[in-house]
Amino acid sequence: MKTCVFIVVVVVVGLSRAKFPAEKTCCLSSKTREKNVCRGRMIGLSTEMARVAEVDRGNFVCVFHWHQLRTRNNICSCPLPTHSATLSSTPIPERLYRVFDEEGRKKMPSYRPGTRWCTSCRRNADKTFSSKEEYQTPKKRKTVGGNNTYRLLQVKSLISFLLTSF
Ligand SMILES: [Zn+2]
Ligand SMILES: [Zn+2]
Repeated sequence: MKTCVFIVVVVVVGLSRAKFPAEKTCCLSSKTREKNVCRGRMIGLSTEMARVAEVDRGNFVCVFHWHQLRTRNNICSCPLPTHSATLSSTPIPERLYRVFDEEGRKKMPSYRPGTRWCTSCRRNADKTFSSKEEYQTPKKRKTVGGNNTYRLLQVKSLISFLLTSF
């Protein structure tokens, strides 16, 4: 009987632990000087916002720090010396994160990783950084079209084969 109760207790404790994971906490709360600035519900960070916060994806921030991150990301994060006044509506492609971080940290003490860039940097970044080791070229979309054409040719030859064999 005692063992039975023991097993039940173990199972219940195990289940309650599985059901209630560690409480979500704002990952930026410790990084601020003022205490208790955290406000509002917890928001899970996407890859982009985790980059701005300089934490791993899947961390949480409170609403207050979420807005702070959004504001921080409202500038061009490309480590080029000259910028235009307008931010591009297209975010920085992930393939450029590494070369930007590498160059930014090397050359600008104030560099902070972000996900947005200005229209001038969007035009010039590939040209400027293409010689760097960490640079990744954009993926070419032509191969997809090429494959489709190839498949179409295969279907066509199959049809003509069927037509001639009857
Ligand atoms: Zn917070
Ligand atoms: Zn820029």
